[in-house]
Amino acid sequence: MSGGGERRPATVVAQAGRRPEWTHGVVNPPVYRASTCLFDTLAELDSACADPDAGLYYGRRGTPTTWALETALTELEPGAAGTKLYPSGVAAISAALLAVLKAGDHLLMVDSVYEPTRLFCNRTLRDLGIETSYYDPLAGAGVAELIKPNTRAIFMESPGSLTFEVQDVPAIVAVAKERGLLTLIDNTWATPLLFAAIGHGVDLSIQSLTKFVVGHSDVLMGSVTAAPGVWERLRTASFRLGQTVSPDDAYLTLRGLRTLHARMERHGRSALEVARWLEAQPSVERVLHPGLNTHPGHAIWQRDFTGSSSLFAIALREGGRADTAPLVDGLAHFGMGFSFGGYESLVLPVEPHRIRTATRWEAPGPLLRLHIGLEDPGDLIADLEAGLVRYEAALG
Ligand SMILES: *Cc1c(COP(=O)(O)O)cnc(C)c1O
Repeated sequence: MSGGGERRPATVVAQAGRRPEWTHGVVNPPVYRASTCLFDTLAELDSACADPDAGLYYGRRGTPTTWALETALTELEPGAAGTKLYPSGVAAISAALLAVLKAGDHLLMVDSVYEPTRLFCNRTLRDLGIETSYYDPLAGAGVAELIKPNTRAIFMESPGSLTFEVQDVPAIVAVAKERGLLTLIDNTWATPLLFAAIGHGVDLSIQSLTKFVVGHSDVLMGSVTAAPGVWERLRTASFRLGQTVSPDDAYLTLRGLRTLHARMERHGRSALEVARWLEAQPSVERVLHPGLNTHPGHAIWQRDFTGSSSLFAIALREGGRADTAPLVDGLAHFGMGFSFGGYESLVLPVEPHRIRTATRWEAPGPLLRLHIGLEDPGDLIADLEAGLVRYEAALG
């Protein structure tokens, strides 16, 4: 897709990665099922060997199906040099960390990080001789005090998983650049549409595509998009790890991407409507959504993000996890389960206080995480209203 004129994000989402040599006259790239690629002559084989990433070489190196998705994701991150795909978000996180760390290194990891990331650091990286220490998500430039002589990288996730603290990414990036450290971010909550991670100076921007990009709760996939300075390192490290994605999954993920802009707008608008209603309910002690002006991270969110996502949490006024059963069991429009980003709304009781080590999480009552899907927000509010009545009745 060539031609002049400025391309705003919705246009980029519709056009990114569409190259005629990959699509051959149809709108979407075909599903290439390939291990072996064939060469007609020795000369063609030798020319492919000279630059195996220039075109079809061997299935693990990619096909037009995966190149279209990778290129589209790169185009969504202004300033990025390239993207690699992985079979899940967790695989993307582990591959990104393994690409930049080696034995003897130290990693600074945000305390509000997604729990499986913590598990990878505390077990796998530890066994490889890589040390992780956790920092307060609100530390900002204060991370400088935690840097050791062997610190190599700072990992961020903003807003934080389960508790939605907003990190001061530009302040942390400034510290990292001054001290020669690399920065990584898990950008799953925002997607590149709501937070331009590479544009904010982050070196590696990670997504669980499983969530918003896939958008239909039927594919697991992850991606890492790299700034120019680390792209070659990510590319070669990923090739050595041998992770690939199936062509059918890549096709579905790219199909999901085409509606991402419209879905994120709707998710964001509905989530704010539901969040504002919940904030006014006496059963709700706190609504943890950075798009609300009562949220402690609202000013930074407003400065750095271009919109609101679907995922937030509510802290109930009193009781424990078991007291949420009458509320969640009886919901008609919210499924209970992990993940988010699909068209359907979800609810999940979560317990961040069990996970933290550098900071304490405190609330008087249990925490429920909500993903606001594409249903009518009025129906969702009515469902939650009845749920809160059941919660109050059960507390007595
Ligand atoms: C779900 C999630 C992941 C992991 O993604 P999978 O595709 O399920 O492996 C990573 N980070 C965040 C913030 C997530 O929500």
